[in-house]
Amino acid sequence: MTGEGENHTTETARAPVRGRLFRKFAILFVGLVGGVLIASGAMQAYFSYEENKEMLVRLQREKANAAAAVIKQFVREIENQIAWTMHSSFLPRAQRFEQRRIDFLRLLRQAPAITEISLLDAAGKEQLKISRLSMDVIGGGKDFSGDPRFTEAKAGKPYVSPVYFRQQSEPYVTLSMVGPRRSAGVTVAEVNLKLIWDEISQIRVGRKGYAYVVDSRGLLIAHPDIGLVLRKTNLSALSQVIAARKGSGGAALASRAVQIADGIGGGKVLTAHGRIDRLGWTVFVESPLDEAFGPIYDSLARTGILILFGLVLAAIAGLVLARRIIVPIGALQEGAARIGAGDLTSRIAVKTGDELEVLAGQFNDMAADLQESYATLERRVAERTAELSAALEQLQALGEVGRAVSSTLDLQKVLETIVAQAVKLSETDGGTIHDIDESTGEFRLQATYGLSEEHIKELGTRTFDPSMSSIAMATQQRAPVEIPDLLERRGYSRRELSLQAGFRALLAVPLLHEDRVLGALIVRRKAPGHFDKKAIDLLQTFASQSVLPIQNARLFQEIEEKGRQIEIASRHKSQFLANMSHELRTPLNAILGYTELILDEIYGPAPEKVREVLDRVQANGRHLLGLINEVLDLAKIEAGELELSVDAYSMADVVHTVVTATESLAKEKNLALNVTTAPDLPTGEGDERRIAQVLLNLVGNAIKFTDEGAVGITVAAENGAFEVKVVDTGPGITAADQKEIFEEFHQIDSSNTKEKAGTGLGLAIAKRIVEMHGGRIWVKSSPGQGSTFGFSLPLRVAQREETS
Ligand code: ADP
Repeated sequence: MTGEGENHTTETARAPVRGRLFRKFAILFVGLVGGVLIASGAMQAYFSYEENKEMLVRLQREKANAAAAVIKQFVREIENQIAWTMHSSFLPRAQRFEQRRIDFLRLLRQAPAITEISLLDAAGKEQLKISRLSMDVIGGGKDFSGDPRFTEAKAGKPYVSPVYFRQQSEPYVTLSMVGPRRSAGVTVAEVNLKLIWDEISQIRVGRKGYAYVVDSRGLLIAHPDIGLVLRKTNLSALSQVIAARKGSGGAALASRAVQIADGIGGGKVLTAHGRIDRLGWTVFVESPLDEAFGPIYDSLARTGILILFGLVLAAIAGLVLARRIIVPIGALQEGAARIGAGDLTSRIAVKTGDELEVLAGQFNDMAADLQESYATLERRVAERTAELSAALEQLQALGEVGRAVSSTLDLQKVLETIVAQAVKLSETDGGTIHDIDESTGEFRLQATYGLSEEHIKELGTRTFDPSMSSIAMATQQRAPVEIPDLLERRGYSRRELSLQAGFRALLAVPLLHEDRVLGALIVRRKAPGHFDKKAIDLLQTFASQSVLPIQNARLFQEIEEKGRQIEIASRHKSQFLANMSHELRTPLNAILGYTELILDEIYGPAPEKVREVLDRVQANGRHLLGLINEVLDLAKIEAGELELSVDAYSMADVVHTVVTATESLAKEKNLALNVTTAPDLPTGEGDERRIAQVLLNLVGNAIKFTDEGAVGITVAAENGAFEVKVVDTGPGITAADQKEIFEEFHQIDSSNTKEKAGTGLGLAIAKRIVEMHGGRIWVKSSPGQGSTFGFSLPLRVAQREETS
């Protein structure tokens, strides 16, 4: 489920990546091809536009210049013809006038453009006027002295008037010039420009191109549309006119002049001009931009279509190429993902015959290598796992054995555990452990595993020739001995028995402790064959494991035996002591009794000498009796025969009894005996006689070991117990000795103690008595500081069962 889910997510996550690559390719291709096409198209368009424009402008300029030249030529010719009429003649004045008239008439015939010609005298008065349109005037006298035709011409420069129109249709200029002789006056000609104008109107550039002329003031003076001219259209605001008027007519300037401008009737035009400097006129040749650049637009459109076509082609090529590259890359990617996801058997099929196929091949090789190393690794892991689990099993088995060894002293149980684990781990079918009976040197069957009842019985009861047994061989060799097949081993003593039980192979391992044979571990297998080394090593480990418990069990048995013996001996001793003390006390009592009777002179008067001896007899006898009593007490305690006779008692009485008994001793040694008894001591419950015995012992010791100073007794009742303390100013006891003085027969090893005599039993007995009452005895002392012995005794004794 999760695998599917993962696959799904990776698929969806990858799709856009492939898309990106695809898109990148397409964009790259389209961009590249389109870019080149557009750039080349644009460049071509630009250059052809520039060239076209340049060419057109040049053409137009040529036309304009040609027209200008025609006009110039026309005007010059007219001037020349007029100048011809003014040639000097040496005729008399009247003839000369006539001559002039004839000349004028001839001029009118020769130059159809001249409509009217007149002569002004030096004062500016019209003398002669010959016209095609009106009557000739001779000596009219009309005054032109203020008119520019006169003044300008008089200044020496041929004069050309602004254009004017006659009959609202024909353009005219007035041309005047002075003759070679100043006095001859000024000749004025009205020149019809129609011819030139017609020529201008016929100028065509392309279909819609036309020419027109503008005078120095910016007025339109010639145009195909005569209406515009008649309306005196002022074009001085047009940029091309401004530029032309500004320029003084240099060719360089002309080329730099405005090439694209607004036309007369609106709309952009391509314009060129030629100047007629003499007249201040400018000929413009213009063609509408759309026509001028028509071919360019066509070529642009063609280029555009070409680019579009190129782009489509590029896109298709890009897609095809991208597919060709991306499909195998996709296959590679998917294959790599499959291999990465662990499917090492999958291979990538890319047959493009290029680097991609090589790459796919390398992926496949890699997957194969991975697959192989995985397989090797898995095999190794399986092997190691098997080894480890075997080792773990061994460890567990050994652990179990170890637990059995440490948790029980039951040898039988331990050996059974060992043999069971040994059989299981060596993968055999049955096993036994034998130990050696040290007294007879024979092997005894101790534990079995996997053997039938009868087999066990037979092994336990039947006797065999030990020299022929595998155990014997193993123990002799101090090494494991195997019988791979019992069928082939005729001499083996228990061959038949084992064969009957179905066993064919056998391995015996000696149990060795420091080279001493303690027994043997034998495993039996139903299948014949050699035992492998691992099994043998393992069994040796088990054998060495078995040695320890066998040894321990033996020692334990020995200790138990010794303990039992000691206990019996101790019982005998206590019994003997009790008996002996009793036996000794009887005659001693008799001796003391008789001595007393003699001293009491029951048998008549005793001489002083005798009395002294008897006193010593009596003192020694008493001492001996005390010793015997102590020995008897201890013997009773140890034999568990001392019993407390519990009854109510007064502690104050106990103290009193002890003080009475020891007072004289203290006095003898010049020691103060101080008694401090708390008032209102409660009545206790216990063995009064024994408690008195304890206190007597403590006080007796204190007096005995103290040579000067005092002995104090304090008694108090606290927390439900009597607290009794005996303080002395004696030699004190070292910490080491304090630990031991409560043990039987223990006396501090010093000359002082030895002098004081004693048995070393008193404190031991006191301790037992106090403990039997549920109390505690203690000592606090340091050498040279005196000693304090004390005991606490529960008010109510909870008598304990003394069994030992
Ligand atoms: P005993 O007095 O018969 O030798 P105890 O068991 O009563 O035996 O005392 C054991 C030893 O403890 C004494 O031999 C002595 O060395 C030491 N001891 C007991 N009481 C005192 C004491 N009050 N001051 C110094 N030593 C003491």
